[in-house]
Amino acid sequence: MAKILVLAEHSGESVKKVTLELLTLARRFGEPSVVWLGPGAEAGRERLAEYGAATVYAADGEGLADYVITPAVGVLADLVSEVSPGAVLLAATGDGKEIAGRLAVRTGSGVLTDVVGLTPGEDGSGPVAEQSIFGGAITVRSRVRTGTPIIAVRPNSTTPEPAPAAGELRQIAAQSPEQSLAARITDRVVQERGERPDLTEASIVVSGGRGVNGTENFTRYIEPLADALGAAVGASRAVTDAGWYPHQFQVGQTGKTVSPQLYVAVGISGAIQHRAGMQTSKTIMVINKDPEAPIFELADFGVVGDLFTVVPQLVEEIGRRKES
Ligand SMILES: Cc1cc2nc3c(=O)[nH]c(=O)nc-3n(C[C@H](O)[C@H](O)[C@H](O)COP(=O)(O)OP(=O)(O)OC[C@H]3O[C@@H](n4cnc5c(N)ncnc54)[C@H](O)[C@@H]3O)c2cc1C
Repeated sequence: MAKILVLAEHSGESVKKVTLELLTLARRFGEPSVVWLGPGAEAGRERLAEYGAATVYAADGEGLADYVITPAVGVLADLVSEVSPGAVLLAATGDGKEIAGRLAVRTGSGVLTDVVGLTPGEDGSGPVAEQSIFGGAITVRSRVRTGTPIIAVRPNSTTPEPAPAAGELRQIAAQSPEQSLAARITDRVVQERGERPDLTEASIVVSGGRGVNGTENFTRYIEPLADALGAAVGASRAVTDAGWYPHQFQVGQTGKTVSPQLYVAVGISGAIQHRAGMQTSKTIMVINKDPEAPIFELADFGVVGDLFTVVPQLVEEIGRRKES
């Protein structure tokens, strides 16, 4: 069975959910092996094995974490020539897509990015990738025909499913050619984060739209509702463009893709570009004063009403139920 290389996304020792999603997809057409860059592989190994990693290649060479992108490309390129994998899967994050592009050039392979689904090709012809374009209006199916398929998959495209495997840890060398070590990281600033979960990993997301009408109202209405539910906060592009909430919280075609158990859309109309980032959520709840708002088409349940009246009542009721 062909090996499928999966580049691990991790935060220190903790394995990010998207890595488990990639392992789940990889099992459809081969035997997944994880490539782990930097420290923490020993601690992460067990979780990776639980989701089907046969081997965990750990590269923790000197200075590996001090350079941008290129060490990952070097390690993956070496492994591609050593194990001839059936495909390389990465997360379609900013870094992941850059690594994918460079790896494709380095190995003379085809690359597909922003993939939302993967199925085995007919007659073992390599994975068929699905991309969703024009805000989800059109689905494109493609297959890489040159070299090793390099595929960057959007987070939250599938539900991780465990399937225990050996998870054998193998240390590998991390060598990068001198010229590829040009951009060195000189400083790291840890982004201040509260207690809220990461937007793309959260099982509940509360998003606010233009109806929220200002930064202060995010603090007064959206954040308290998110905190009552243990949720992450998201926002529509109207909000991030207006500067009411930071861009990294934007959900949609040009923002993050989320697929939580519960998505609460507050004061959001449901434009096609917003839907593209949240329509696969398991349960969708809407609060909007306009009964004709298109977002109601997606809603499992909704409240037609003024968010400034509905949200405080909701927060109060959640608090009451938590106490009882
Ligand atoms: C190329 C491109 C990419 C884009 N990418 C994205 C993207 O990634 N994400 C994204 O979100 N958008 C994106 N957009 C923008 C998108 O088209 C919409 O403009 C945007 O999603 C609208 O945001 P909104 O729903 O918050 O605002 P509006 O469409 O203005 O909707 C506001 C809603 O709030 C309701 N409302 C108002 N007051 C209240 C109240 N007091 N109580 C309850 N409800 C109230 C209104 O009834 C209305 O439905 C993109 C657009 C383009 C062209």
